[in-house]
Amino acid sequence: MAKKLFSVDIDYDSCKSCGICYWVCPTHTIVEGELQAPKISDMDKCIGCMQCVNLCPDFAIEVTPRKVVEKK
Ligand code: SF4
Ligand code: SF4
Repeated sequence: MAKKLFSVDIDYDSCKSCGICYWVCPTHTIVEGELQAPKISDMDKCIGCMQCVNLCPDFAIEVTPRKVVEKK
C-alpha cells in the first residue's frame, strides 16, 4: 500500500501564534511549541486534510505533497 506524505511549512514571519492550527490538526502533526508558537512534531503524520491551511488567519501554512512511499 502506498502512503502519501506531505510537507508542512510554517511561515513564522506571518504567524501570530493564534493556535488554531494545532487545535484543529487531527493528527498532531502541528503541536504547541514555545510561547504558543506552532511546532511541527512529525511531518510524516500529516494526512493533507488542509484544515490548518484553510483556517490559518494569516495564510502562514503551506502543505504540499512530498512523495509516496510504498508500505508493505
Ligand atoms: S493558525 Fe496560522 S497564525 Fe495561527 S498559530 Fe497556526 S500558523 Fe500561526
Ligand atoms: S494538513 Fe491536516 S494533518 Fe496536515 S498539518 Fe494540516 S491539519 Fe494537520
